[in-house]
Amino acid sequence: MMSRVAVVTGSNKGIGFEIVRGLCKQLDGIVYLTARNEKLGQEAVQKLKSEGLNPSFHQLDITNEQSIQALKQHLQDKHGGLDVLVNNAGFAHKMASTAPFSTQAVDTVGINFTGTLAISKALLPIIRPHGRVVNVSSQGSNMSLGKCSTEMKARFRDRSIQEEELVKLLNTFIETAKAGKHKENGFSDSAYGMSKIGVTVLTFIQAWEMEKDPREDILVNCMCPGWCKSDMAGWERPPRTAADGADTALFLALLPPNTKEPQGQFFYDRKPIQF
Ligand code: NDP
Repeated sequence: MMSRVAVVTGSNKGIGFEIVRGLCKQLDGIVYLTARNEKLGQEAVQKLKSEGLNPSFHQLDITNEQSIQALKQHLQDKHGGLDVLVNNAGFAHKMASTAPFSTQAVDTVGINFTGTLAISKALLPIIRPHGRVVNVSSQGSNMSLGKCSTEMKARFRDRSIQEEELVKLLNTFIETAKAGKHKENGFSDSAYGMSKIGVTVLTFIQAWEMEKDPREDILVNCMCPGWCKSDMAGWERPPRTAADGADTALFLALLPPNTKEPQGQFFYDRKPIQF
């Protein structure tokens, strides 16, 4: 069998870096550590090489269409496709951030939701049969869903929601946030939580689309790593290590071939949970 190819977004540090480390150890194939900053990416690759692991590197900024297309072209030319995509790249303003809420909404939804959507739209079409897609979401999405209005909750939970409608809802969140009217329009007051609702619901949509796809046995799931020490979450309070957080993502990325499930599920500690 051809060597398998895996790509992990935002993997120069934190949970993504640990996912690459785990895949290098457990996947029979080629693992791409990707980073928006080439220098930070190369340094991370060197760190793993010094441990005797052998990741490959490619630059990737999930908010930059040129960067996305360059990676896609590279994967097609060099490997004819890919087998594992872990959408880990993410961003959050610090709790203490003084950035206006509207800015936080634009930045966070832009990277976590719109960026994840953009890289997925480019790479899902070149995933081979038996491929695995893992979207790193957060239980912050579940908490934010709980804070949405009954009507908004129903729209995000609607199992027939289409991608266009989801994009429209997140755009409306941003527009109403700019006017300071997101809460009265049914959205939660967490920009991060709203962006991760986008990631979770996108996972369900991608999984339903895969069920109709002629390619066999491609599973799409999302997960929450738990509260992990990292530059994003801080180094003092979170109880978990980034490696702990990577565990469930690795489990989903390495699901054995020829299984019908899990498909379109939200995982925490290797178990499906409700959204
Ligand atoms: P880190 O801040 O340590 O890592 C985030 C990674 O994403 C970095 O490599 C960062 O690159 C990269 N990134 C940010 N924006 C982009 C972009 N536009 N294109 C490509 N890469 C980008 O955070 P964590 O490791 O903690 O988080 C990883 C994932 O886990 C995120 O999706 C986060 O939301 C999620 N998560 C984390 C939790 C936690 O407690 N840590 C809890 C729940 C979910 P750069 O170094 O250049 O900034």
